[in-house]
This record gives sequence, C-alpha cells and structure tokens, in this order.
Amino acid sequence: MTAEDRLIALRSAPPVFSIAEAERVAREVYGLAVRATSLSGERDANFLLTTADARSFTLKLIDTGVEPEGAHCQIEVLRHLEAHDATLPVPRVFATPEGSETGTVIRSGCKFATCLLAYLPGRMLADVSPAPPLLHDLGRTLARIDRALQGFFHPALAQPIAWDVRRLPSLMPYLSTIADDGLRASVAAAGEGIRERSRALSARRSQAIHGDAHGGNIVVDAAAQGVTGILDFGDMIHAPLVLEPAVAMAEVPVNGVQRAEALSTVLAGYAESAALEAADIELLYDLIMARHAVTVLIHAWRVRHDAGAGVLRQPALHSAVSLDWLQTIGREPLTRQWHEAAGTSVRVQVGVTLERRHRMLGAGAQLFYEQPLHLIRGSGVWLYDADDNAYLDVYNNVPHVGHCHPTVVRAVQRQVARLATHTRYLHGGILDYAEALTARCPPGLNACIFVNSGSEANDVAWRLAQFATGKRGALIMAHAYHGITDAVAALTPASGVQGAHDPRVVTLDPPAAIHHDESMTDEDLAEAAAGVDRALATLAVRGLAPAAFFLDTALTSSGIYDAPPLWMSTVAARLRSAGCLIVADEVQYGLGRSGSHFWGFERRGLQPDIVTLGKPIGNGFPMGAVIANRALIEGFQSTHGFFSTFGGNAVAASAGLAVLDVIDREHLLANAAGTGSYLRNRLATMAARHACLGRVRGTGLLLGLEVRGSAAATAQVRTQQIINAVKNHARVLIGYEGPAADILKLRPPLPFQPSHADILVAAIDEAAALVGRRHAQETGA
Ligand code: PMP
Repeated sequence: MTAEDRLIALRSAPPVFSIAEAERVAREVYGLAVRATSLSGERDANFLLTTADARSFTLKLIDTGVEPEGAHCQIEVLRHLEAHDATLPVPRVFATPEGSETGTVIRSGCKFATCLLAYLPGRMLADVSPAPPLLHDLGRTLARIDRALQGFFHPALAQPIAWDVRRLPSLMPYLSTIADDGLRASVAAAGEGIRERSRALSARRSQAIHGDAHGGNIVVDAAAQGVTGILDFGDMIHAPLVLEPAVAMAEVPVNGVQRAEALSTVLAGYAESAALEAADIELLYDLIMARHAVTVLIHAWRVRHDAGAGVLRQPALHSAVSLDWLQTIGREPLTRQWHEAAGTSVRVQVGVTLERRHRMLGAGAQLFYEQPLHLIRGSGVWLYDADDNAYLDVYNNVPHVGHCHPTVVRAVQRQVARLATHTRYLHGGILDYAEALTARCPPGLNACIFVNSGSEANDVAWRLAQFATGKRGALIMAHAYHGITDAVAALTPASGVQGAHDPRVVTLDPPAAIHHDESMTDEDLAEAAAGVDRALATLAVRGLAPAAFFLDTALTSSGIYDAPPLWMSTVAARLRSAGCLIVADEVQYGLGRSGSHFWGFERRGLQPDIVTLGKPIGNGFPMGAVIANRALIEGFQSTHGFFSTFGGNAVAASAGLAVLDVIDREHLLANAAGTGSYLRNRLATMAARHACLGRVRGTGLLLGLEVRGSAAATAQVRTQQIINAVKNHARVLIGYEGPAADILKLRPPLPFQPSHADILVAAIDEAAALVGRRHAQETGA
C-alpha cells in the first residue's frame, strides 16, 4: 500500500445508513426494539440505540470491504480487555441472540459487519476544559488499557495507516499541499525528526496500543473529573508504547490549563501506571511533533482533494498552533519537564547517555565520577547539569578566565562570522597574538609556531629540539604527561606504559624533599644532580645523547610539586652542559596560574629554549602554541617545512588575544595569588583535623591535597571516595593526581574567589569526615 493509497483510504467516507435502517438492523440482527440517533464516526456508521426501558447501546456498521480484518480486530480487542480487566472504561460487546459477536448486513451487494456495544454516557473530552485531575486520569486510564493490551495480537495491527506517525516521512511528497510557508517548514522538520529517530523508535518496547486518544474518542463524567470511556479501537497499531501518551499529549485540549502543564500531567498519569524509560521520554518531542504534522498534512491533502476536510479543520488548527509552541519552547526544556513528570530524570538519563556513549565512543572513553555528570552549560566558575543544578568547578583549567567568558565568546563569534580560514594568507590577527605572547617572554623567545593542542605543541617542540641538537634522547619527569601523538606519548608515562619502554626516553624523579621555606640542603642538591647524571648515563649506554628535557613547570601529573628554584637551576645547569635543550611545558602553569608570575618557568628562574602552550590559551577554543627563538624556527622551516591548517587561524588568534586581555583587565594573576594563598591556608587548617588528609602542595590556583591511608591502595580508594562525595553532597567538582592517584587536584578557573574557596573547603571537610567515619566502622575503631 503506497502512501497515496493510505491517504485515499482515509478519504472514503463512512457508510451512509438511515435511522430507519439502523433501527431495522437492531431489530433483525439483535432482536431489539429501539429508537436510533446518528453518532459521528470517521470510518464506521455509528448509532445510539435506546430501548423503551431506557437501555442504551452503540451500533456500529463497519464496511468489511474496506478493512475486513479491522472489523474483527475491533471486537477482539474489546473482548480481550474485558477478560483482562473488567473495570476498564471501555464498551462491552453484546452478542447476537445466536451468540455471535458480529452480525452481517448485506446492502446493495456490499457486506457490512455489525457490532453492538454498551453506550458509555458522559461528555466528550473535546467539549470540556480539562482540569489537571482529569488529565492525570486520562494518562492513567490509557496506561491501564495498555497494560491490559500486553499480549494482544491481531494481523490488523500491522495495517499501514496514514495516521501512524512513524510513516510521516513517506508523506513528505505531499508537503506542497500545505499553503503556509512556516507551517510547511515545521511539518518538514517533524518529518526529518522522525526519520532521524526511526532506529531509536524501532528499538523501543512495542505492543498493541489504542493509538488515537483524541478528545472525540474520550468520554468524561459530567463533572469532568474522570475518564468514563475510551472509544474507537479502529486505529489500533502495534507500535512503541510511548506513542500512546505521545498522541494523548498532542491531542489534549489546552483550554483552561497551561499547555506545558497539561502535557506533563497526562504523561505523569500515564507513567504512574505504565513504566516508561528515559529513552522513551527522549522520543516524545519528535512523536508529538509528528502527530501534529500528520494531522496538518492529512487535512491539507483533503482540502486539496476536496475529500471531507471539514472534520479535521479544528484539529489541524490545534496542530498548527501546537507545532509553533513546541518549536518555540524547544526540545530540551520540554524533554526535561517530561523526564521529571515521568520520573526518568537525570539519573536515568545519564544511564541512557552512558550506554549511547559506550556504543558510539567505545567503553574505554574516559569519564569522571562513579555517577557521571551530564553537563549542559557553564558560566564563570560554575557548571550546570541537565537539571540546571550548579556545580562549583574546581577542576578545569581550559576555561582559564571562566567558563564561556563573554569577552572571549564575543571575540570568537565576531571573527568566525567575518573570516575563518587557514594561515597561508596575510592576516593581522596571528601577528598580534604572536607579538602579545612573545612580549611576555624573555628576549630569546621571540617567534611562534601555532598548532591546535598541547600535544601538537610538544610534538613540534620535540622535532625542533632534535633538529637543533642533532640528538635523539629525551628526559622527562617521572609520571609526566605531555600528550597523545605517537612521538609525545613516548614522553608520557602518566598515560600508561609506553613512555617507560621507549629507549630514547629516561626519567628524573621530583625533588625528594620540599621544605617549607623552599630551601634545599646540600644532600638534596647532590641527589638532584646525581639523578640527572644517572639519566644521562642511561641514555649514553643506549648510544643516545639528550636533545630535550621536557618539564611541566608545575610538575602536575608527577604529583603537583612547586619545585624550588635551586632544584630547577641545578638540574638545568647539568643538562645544558650536556647540550640538552629545555622545553618548558606551560600547558598547566602558564598564563598566570601560579599567581606570582605569568609563566611557571619565570617563577622558578628557569630559562627555557622552547615554551609549549595549550589548554587554557583559547579558553575552550582548541589551540596550541610553541614559542622559541626565530633562528631555530627558521632553520627548522627551511629544512622540514611546516604548516598546520588551523594553527593560528584568525578565530583562534581572536580567542587567544581575548584571553590575554581578560587576564590583564580582570587582574587574574593577583586573584590567583590572593585566592590561592587563602585557599592554601584554609585547606591546611582543615586538613590538620583529619587523619586521612595530609599536606597541601603547589601554589596559586594549582593545589594538591595529599590523601593518606595505611597502604597506597587505601589512600587511592579514599581519594576517590572524597572526590565522589564532594560532587554528590556539595556539588563541587575536583579531581585527583599523582603517580599513586592519592592527591586531590584543585585547579579551578582563575576567577575563583575566596567565597568559592570556602565552599570547597567545607565540602572536603565534610567528605573527609565521612571517609573517617566509614573507616572507623570498617575497622571497628
Ligand atoms: N602537556 C601537559 C602538561 C598537559 O597537562 C597536557 C594535557 N593534560 C598536554 C600537554 C596535552 O594537551 P592536549 O590534551 O591539549 O593535547
């Protein structure tokens, strides 16, 4: 059956029977003396029959030539419902005196099935202004019917009817019958929505559903408080269960109640009696849109073909207004409300998104927290989940000047709307940015190569160093992190085992002791120097000489060490005399996070040959940069050539410049210093009260708090317990760091204020107490 056939099937008007004929059928087939009155019907001829002793029935005359299976199905389902739940408000079926559920009438050679049903008195839902209790009851009643329908099968349920919203895409060829441009676009969007979700739809739990709960099929009591009848099982289909509430929500009359409340109330009623899953709720928006689109399309088609469009005029008007409303409010807020109404909000949503994520990104794609967070927006130092809960962000350094800082957002928006292309044309933006960066560097660091991530920056630095020295060995800190490219992964033992096994790479240990006053004893310094000598000797044994020492100047992944200047200068001097270049990886510490200096190397009096930058420099716009001496860069360019399509593009440059501008204008260095030392002190005081907490590490707004345990594994478990507890109980986001994963990592956006620090300290305080109590219970202490 083609889409056109289905539309034509709808065009066939109900069979026309006179009152006298109906009364005769009642007498001859059912032995009833009645008075008949005509009732409305889209496809069957329906009559109200009243006997002399005031009993009422509905007589249906069904054209079996059109749908022989359909007639049978309508009766079967009512029998099934009566057998499964006799209290359901659906019409009872009365048999003929011979005991048959249907009778037969032949008229002008056509065969009609007859069927006698109990008449359900009351008013039609379409004629009342429904209050919330009625709407709730409507949802609940439909759910009860669907529960009773489980296990009901009939071949007619597979009938391809035009009203089945899943078939909306096949009606798209008739879009042109819709005269109004805006309405046509809405219907097209609804068609697209269903097409995109067809796979998700076919994955949902399906069964026989009524599928047509509109105001003309629902009888309510005189006071309009409850549903007393669900009529017309002639459009039943086997379909995803969620289509049942979707149709009811689309069709619900919205006079007298708020539209959003009306829809949610029907859904809440439904969900009370039939279990919907979060994935069902995710489909509601498209199903409701589609129901309206089908109504509008069928109406438009009938108008065009002069095919009895009158009965659909009012519904089509309702649908046009509803489509507009749905699009104005939007999928996300409505879906959120519906998750609330159906009891499938965040927690379940997270489950669905998690399952999808595993499917699409691989189960190994890293995620934070025992119960992952589903974030949808950020502002300043705050992040917001799908329920608009605010989380204090004490973890993220990408939003260096604050999440979605308006200055950066505007700069990017302006530039992306003007010119966004690669860097083989002259453009002032990249030059302004290069000048702004190098102006903040010592004199020798005077030219830039722009790339798109910290990993790429380190990859380029590694190539530059090998080019400059002609050597192939590298030194890194134990448990360093420098990125993900093939070359740089070898410099990144923190991500796994690779770095440890690359023969070109040797590691140095962080300073064994860091004293409060940053002093270093002679033994400390001798150990640092000996460490370098051992590493160089290891390289030499392998026939290698050092090209570069890569140093994250905050020693972040090594455990957050603010290594003293003397340690740095001792190590650097030793390496320089071996001809090794020093690469300061400023991806973590750069741009003022230490509070005292713009660069981490500057803070420790280190003179690097190459500086690499990443994460914070674009405040969320993906960027990386390498700063080095022009002669080195030019030598490399002339030998190897170098070009990165997006590196330093005009949009990136505008983001980078805006970030530098905000750092200055909002005095974010001073803030990192002030808030950082306030936080450091408060953490130290609080930590002293807990056996499971140790020293504070780091400076400015890159701090670590040691977690203690009787064994390394215990400390690691406690670290996770604290991180999850501060998230779950206080909505504060922190991370962990270090080779033993036993250091709380505190690294917020730079606009972090002392008031935020108070929230954080209180959260860790409470979490540490919780962990302490748990420990006491476990050990019986
Ligand atoms: N260097 C350091 C010190 C880093 O912390 C990171 C990222 N965590 C990188 C380099 C790599 O940056 P990206 O993830 O942007 O490639």
